Amino acid sequence: MDFRLTEEQEALKKEFEDFFEEAMKQAPPGWAGGLEAPFATDEGFAFHQAVARKLGEKGWLSLPWPKEYGGQEHSQIEQLLFSEVMGYYRAPGVDIWGVGMLAPTLLLSGSEEQKKEHLPPIAGGGLLWCQAWSEPNAGSDLASLTTKAVEDGDDYVLNGQKIWTTAAHRADWMFTLARTDPELPRHRGLSYFLVDMKTPGITIRPLRDMAGNHLFNELFLDDVRVPKRNMVGEKNRGWYVTLMTMNFERSGIGAFSESKRTLEELVEFIKETKRDGEVLAQNPFIRHRLAQLAIEIEVGRALSYRIAWVQQAGGIPAAEAAAAKVYGTELGQRLAYLGCQIMGLYGQVKESKWAPLQGTFENAYQTCVGMNIAAGTSEVMRNIIATRGLELPREP
Ligand SMILES: Cc1cc2nc3c(=O)[nH]c(=O)nc-3n(C[C@H](O)[C@H](O)[C@H](O)COP(=O)(O)OP(=O)(O)OC[C@H]3O[C@@H](n4cnc5c(N)ncnc54)[C@H](O)[C@@H]3O)c2cc1C
Repeated sequence: MDFRLTEEQEALKKEFEDFFEEAMKQAPPGWAGGLEAPFATDEGFAFHQAVARKLGEKGWLSLPWPKEYGGQEHSQIEQLLFSEVMGYYRAPGVDIWGVGMLAPTLLLSGSEEQKKEHLPPIAGGGLLWCQAWSEPNAGSDLASLTTKAVEDGDDYVLNGQKIWTTAAHRADWMFTLARTDPELPRHRGLSYFLVDMKTPGITIRPLRDMAGNHLFNELFLDDVRVPKRNMVGEKNRGWYVTLMTMNFERSGIGAFSESKRTLEELVEFIKETKRDGEVLAQNPFIRHRLAQLAIEIEVGRALSYRIAWVQQAGGIPAAEAAAAKVYGTELGQRLAYLGCQIMGLYGQVKESKWAPLQGTFENAYQTCVGMNIAAGTSEVMRNIIATRGLELPREP
């Protein structure tokens, strides 16, 4: 692996930094990043949309796509630099489902018609997608899902229930998975659909997380008619399209650069704060804990760079991406817990002049738990590392 950047890459990175530095000056007060800031409040979502449109104008939502679909044909490394800078600034503006997951899936598996219809609006930043896969009885074991899609004329008719659909209440479109043949073995009877959220028969109900945010939703599908042309890939082969989408979901450098920023803020805080007459920065216990996290963040960054490097070389970084996901989300927990310990009781206060760093760590403490579960739990990630990375047998 070569960590050196070319002059052009250094210049592009600087352009990203200048853009996000400026854009984040307009962020609503108390902006904390993560999934909550852009999707949980109307104000946050309006800011997300404004940044998305600017990114679309710059062509930065389609950096690695081929030119014929409106892309810039940048490398995976340049895409990684963009995500790294964006994570550091805790910036919104990228539809993680449309830009991050669906677009690369369509580029590989979509029909020409689907590419022409869906890629330009994703690249322009004008709409939002959501991922409606999980069901009440199908999460880690997604292939056990029971939502049905039955052929009827030019359409499929979908019936069933989805759950934990992040940002469905904001989304314009969803990609989903439904059973098209109950007679076939579980993985083989599934198909992948693109569904307009305005289609009659879709009911969205909010689910609040433990921090009180409205981020997830339950989706009820009652006789939802989806045109046949909205099936991605072949009928009953949707599982294989889904596996491809999952690999795109798991490459996150942004988590490590966001952690780096959080650590820097914590370092500033302990330099400025006295407790019992002593500056916190002089406490050896705190110094060592922060030094340890600084090491871990650099390790995580190297894991993410390796993913981009494997992709660049034409490989599928399944085990590498699983390693970065489990490491990054568990590191996020350690950072949030340590931040809360250092802040003490005032760290639990929000929206007050007494709240150090505006309650960021209290919020992170509550939301970091879900990150170990979202997009595949830590246990499932370790299973992938064991089978795909270490080539251990599937059954113990
Ligand atoms: C913040 C957040 C956002 C989410 N957003 C979305 C979204 O937008 N769209 C969507 O479709 N879903 C979303 N989800 C749902 C998420 O994908 C599922 O919660 C996740 O896949 C786990 O499924 P489950 O909740 O059904 O738990 P289960 O699969 O029932 O797991 C329960 C426990 O069993 C363990 N376990 C399960 N199988 C194994 C195994 N084979 N080996 C070892 N341990 C195992 C798990 O690790 C876990 O600890 C989101 C979840 C969270 C927390």
